[in-house]
Amino acid sequence: MLKGIATSSGIAIGKVYKLEQPKIVLKEAKQTVEEALGIFENAMEKTIKDIELIKERAAATLKPEELAIFDAHLMMAQDPEFKDQIIARIKDGLNADQATKEISDMMIGMFESMEDAYFKERAADIKDVSFRLLCNILGLNIPDLTTIDEEVVIVAEEMTPSDTAQLNKKYALGFVTEIGGKTSHAAIMAVALGLPAVVGCTGIMSACKHGDKIILDAKSGDVIVNPTDEELRLYEEKRKKFLEEKAALQVLLDKPTISTDGHQVELVANIGSPKDMDNVIANGAEGVGLYRTEFLYMESTEDFPSEDDQFEAYKVVLERAQGKRVVVRTLDIGGDKKLPYFEFDPEMNPFLGYRAIRLCLDRKDIFKTQVRALLKASVYGKLAIMFPMIATIDEFKNAKQFVLDTKEELLKEGVKVSDEIEIGMMVEIPASAVLADEFAKYADFFSIGTNDLIQYSMAADRMSEKVAYLYQPLNPSILRLIKMTIDGAHSQGRWCGMCGEMGGDPMAAPVLLGLGLDEFSMSATKILPTRKIITSLNKKEMEDLASKALKCHTESEVAELVKSVLAD
Ligand code: PEP
Ligand code: MG
Repeated sequence: MLKGIATSSGIAIGKVYKLEQPKIVLKEAKQTVEEALGIFENAMEKTIKDIELIKERAAATLKPEELAIFDAHLMMAQDPEFKDQIIARIKDGLNADQATKEISDMMIGMFESMEDAYFKERAADIKDVSFRLLCNILGLNIPDLTTIDEEVVIVAEEMTPSDTAQLNKKYALGFVTEIGGKTSHAAIMAVALGLPAVVGCTGIMSACKHGDKIILDAKSGDVIVNPTDEELRLYEEKRKKFLEEKAALQVLLDKPTISTDGHQVELVANIGSPKDMDNVIANGAEGVGLYRTEFLYMESTEDFPSEDDQFEAYKVVLERAQGKRVVVRTLDIGGDKKLPYFEFDPEMNPFLGYRAIRLCLDRKDIFKTQVRALLKASVYGKLAIMFPMIATIDEFKNAKQFVLDTKEELLKEGVKVSDEIEIGMMVEIPASAVLADEFAKYADFFSIGTNDLIQYSMAADRMSEKVAYLYQPLNPSILRLIKMTIDGAHSQGRWCGMCGEMGGDPMAAPVLLGLGLDEFSMSATKILPTRKIITSLNKKEMEDLASKALKCHTESEVAELVKSVLAD
């Protein structure tokens, strides 16, 4: 049995789909010119067919301008010059793979060295096409998540957010990754999709092959490759029990979240796309506490999403929330979230670098499009705007002023904008937690981003499984920062939420209730389990528990305290 980092709950049992880029190893055995030409022609034909097929499938979800990339690839694959040069080298005596690699490398190098951005991009197209061509020559399979048409468990070195976005929930039973931490974005998206996932499972890539049977338990982090009949029976039973418990929670669907002594809190959802609203409604969320808009930017392949495209997305979310508050976070790009059409200068520490509000305040043109779209959409519901990664009061004031100026601009254009938009900020940098009482003089609300707050407080990269032990939401140091933030908000009559993974962590719920958190934002699938816990707790008793927790020395001491209240 292998052990990884548990992300949520649920059990997946199925066949392994190994998401692994094939390694190109050139063939040693000499081919005759006729053989090599035959292999090359067949592989070329297959490559063109493959690209056409991928384009056809993608047409269902991508916009015409996004499909243009496949046309570029087709053009490249059908380019007579490319083909003739390879054939010429085969006639000189090279094998099909050697000739293809040599000519592709030469062309990639040539385009990469050009100044013009257009030609530089062509180098990426040649890389893509020649990789596919070489795989076809060597008989290697290139995995493609969009083509999965049977139930599988994905096993991968790492899942990028765009890999996760491509997963078809109908067939993906869950996933296991070799690297990644509990708050990596792939893990967060898996939870949002309601998929069981285990991340940071060292050794999984070498422990299984495509088609093996696999069990994963997303609650314990256990992963079993090719289980025995006994193990299969045991986990089938566990899965059945999990599904029964899940069904029993449905009675809490439309209930408010009130502690046994009458204190009410709000349970809201984190979303990454308008599509997630189905899940939000189905799980009884009382609004949206975090809309991660960067996924809108990451799904776009060619350019930044236009004002109209963004407006449509925000409008859908606001309308579907039916008057419940929707907290939209402005673009939080950088760190582990990259864009295909925007080049970040290399940095030693991207998580500490040019990202989120830092980038938006520097690139007001990018920021403006989003803010205009948001303000235009504001009349369709109850909008709250939140800025990510705020470190200083000046940053917050500048960002807020930018929103207010943009509002003026729209009003002058005759566009209607709501007068009731709240403007708040994420507290995810220790500096802003420490100064929360001052920030609260300017911000309408706070939402604590514990994924980053813990990463920055502990100086432990959230993507690294090696330092994952430092992800300690219940460490008293983190609890003290949270207390400062909540107290800071309340000192100015503001509300305070939490939208990091800790907000939906059952072990954290009692302490957070005791510390006075007003709003808990989490993956929609965690709402009902959290409602069950909070409605069984007494707020006054949790205040006592929280003050004891704040005086503890270690996370495990706090965990012991929490277990004692969750047990009964
Ligand atoms: C956080 O940092 O806690 C947060 C909610 O933002 P993200 O996970 O998108 O960085
Ligand atoms: Mg964050």
